[in-house]
Amino acid sequence: MTQETDAVVIGAGPVGLFQVFQLGLQGITAHLIDALPHAGGQCVELYGDKPIYDIPGIPVCTGRELASLLLQQIAPFKPHWHLNTLVSSLAAQPDGRLLLHTSAGAQLLTRSVFIAAGVGAFVPRTLKVEGIERFVGTQVHYQSLPAGFDASGHNIVVHGGDEPAVARAVELAEQGRAARICLLHRRDVFQAPDALLQRLQQLRDAGRITVEAAQITGIDVSGERLTALQVLDAEGATRALPLDVLVAVLGISPRLGPIADWGIAMDRKQLVVDAEAFRTSVPGIYAVGDINTYPGKRKLILCGFHEATLAAFGAAEALKGDKVALQYTTTSPRLHQLLGVAPASAPSAGA
Ligand SMILES: Cc1cc2nc3c(=O)[nH]c(=O)nc-3n(C[C@H](O)[C@H](O)[C@H](O)COP(=O)(O)OP(=O)(O)OC[C@H]3O[C@@H](n4cnc5c(N)ncnc54)[C@H](O)[C@@H]3O)c2cc1C
Repeated sequence: MTQETDAVVIGAGPVGLFQVFQLGLQGITAHLIDALPHAGGQCVELYGDKPIYDIPGIPVCTGRELASLLLQQIAPFKPHWHLNTLVSSLAAQPDGRLLLHTSAGAQLLTRSVFIAAGVGAFVPRTLKVEGIERFVGTQVHYQSLPAGFDASGHNIVVHGGDEPAVARAVELAEQGRAARICLLHRRDVFQAPDALLQRLQQLRDAGRITVEAAQITGIDVSGERLTALQVLDAEGATRALPLDVLVAVLGISPRLGPIADWGIAMDRKQLVVDAEAFRTSVPGIYAVGDINTYPGKRKLILCGFHEATLAAFGAAEALKGDKVALQYTTTSPRLHQLLGVAPASAPSAGA
């Protein structure tokens, strides 16, 4: 079924989140879509625990803290969330509206689109093993097992060498439901915090996790089932590693993907915009944050916030067909109503 709306924001990084806030101040509720299962974009995915020092008014906060503050700030505007969802196509319609399709099968017909896609959609790195793709979603999962997955009695292989892979294997072993947990990496060396590595060692000592130092070279299939991985160890020997389920935790990488096919003018993988309202070459489509380019562009969160503000004014005027007057959040009763806050009290006499 097609859902009709005034605004869709593609990307829930810091700039996409602030775009939702600025649209909210214009009285526009947005759909917010991200390929990741959580908000925050690069701030959470690439430097969640590192400090940022150049957000105005916040002397220091981590990437994760910034995302959390932005989520708090946009809460009054109740966006329609679409996480774990990739926007696969975007096309202008004869009536001037824009039709989006998502990987979750949703169709959104909207009057404006704000592309806040950063360096592209963060999607899991996939295995390059012949024939494995037909098992993705059933016996092969990327990054994590599906919500509600019952590991009872399963022989599970977790593949990867970094912290998320070790954490996944340790969590599964500590749950104690799976019949066997195997952590597969090309070397018996893992990049993870010391405390997690100690937990891994304890579980290995207790025989609750086995570690296989080998590379996947192929798969064994019986009927419709994936039964084993063919692995090559450091000694050059190939053998079968039986399994019921494979969780490949190989990291996340940004992919510009479909955006390049949407017929929007680009310059070196960036969307070309004007600096007045951050409009792209396609009417109704705005681009803000790291994805855009214009003279003087700097890829900073602060600059993205400015762009989102002017894009919201531009879109509000286009939707209304009239000028939008500037109002302050400090004093405007309309903005207080939209924000759901109590009106500011009038200054007392003589104050
Ligand atoms: C290590 C590091 C440190 C940094 N430190 C600072 C700093 O101190 N100060 C500063 O100002 N900046 C810093 N930056 C830069 C800052 O993180 C970026 O400018 C900012 O994240 C850009 O925000 P954004 O919302 O435009 O894009 P992003 O944060 O990249 O978010 C884009 C989101 O869009 C989603 N997406 C893309 N395409 C699609 C699609 N087709 N469908 C669905 N979802 C999609 C992605 O999954 C992603 O979550 C740093 C960057 C790095 C890598």
